[in-house]
Amino acid sequence: MSYQKILNTIEQDLSYKDVYGEVASYIPELAKIDPKKFGMFLYCVNKGKFEFGDSREKFSIQSISKVFTLSLAMKLLGEDLWERVHVEPSGDPFNSLTQLEYENGIPRNPFINSGALVIADILVSNLKDPKADLLELVRKISGNPNIDYDTTVATSEKSTGYRNYALVYYMKALGNIKNDVETIVDFYFHQCSLSMSCEDLAKAFMIFANQGKMLETGEKILTPKKVKRINSLMQTCGFYDEAGEFSFEVGLPGKSGVGGGIVAIHPEQYSVAVWSPILNKKGNSELGMAALEKLTTMTGLSIF
Ligand code: GLN
Repeated sequence: MSYQKILNTIEQDLSYKDVYGEVASYIPELAKIDPKKFGMFLYCVNKGKFEFGDSREKFSIQSISKVFTLSLAMKLLGEDLWERVHVEPSGDPFNSLTQLEYENGIPRNPFINSGALVIADILVSNLKDPKADLLELVRKISGNPNIDYDTTVATSEKSTGYRNYALVYYMKALGNIKNDVETIVDFYFHQCSLSMSCEDLAKAFMIFANQGKMLETGEKILTPKKVKRINSLMQTCGFYDEAGEFSFEVGLPGKSGVGGGIVAIHPEQYSVAVWSPILNKKGNSELGMAALEKLTTMTGLSIF
């Protein structure tokens, strides 16, 4: 079956009516999103592009942004980065505080909130204008100069982001945060507010499927070694306490966000992004996971 036929089957077989989760509401602005939205974009290394539904509509990428900030931090710090954040799955929810106490304020990995907040601290320490540098990277690798922060979403998250404040204050008490708390959370809420479509995300994540090079221009963004490590972190930690389930059902490195987006890659084959805002209890898109399960089963292209 052709890829477009497979995507059409996924669109026909899956419906928001069959899932029972809810749109994220702890960020007030995200509670307004239409739960019926559903789109997918598949971008192949041979330059084939396939899509359905709301694949070109922008949404809040939330934790998917953690892959971009990790990429920037790895470029800046090299091996020293791993003294500030570890690389083990946590098995706990994305916003958990518990493991920090007995691990001296060193987060288990860069994809849980504590880890991403340490990465934010590192970017604030090392870059004059981290918001501008992040935007430049994301616009470049997605090939879309119109990508931007959604400041309404960032302000909305700030108004209720008590757990993220708690994480930063706690890690500061334990010595793993160097900068002013407000500056770090401001950067973090902005990175999470990046507004991108499935098309933008699939194109941006192509560097992780293509050994760190942009597909269209061949420009090197990351070394193959860094890409190997980022992909392995996506595989083991990209879905928090559901990383095992995602690996079991889908079998690809990937990253989710509470805006309902998921991006996944198959090295040397494709990158794929899917969006449906209804989340399961672990904060991952229910329909998105089901769509990717169908994709890897029907194409036979998981990494396992
Ligand atoms: N901005 C969100 C938060 O910090 C991101 C969480 C997510 O997408 N899993 O809670």
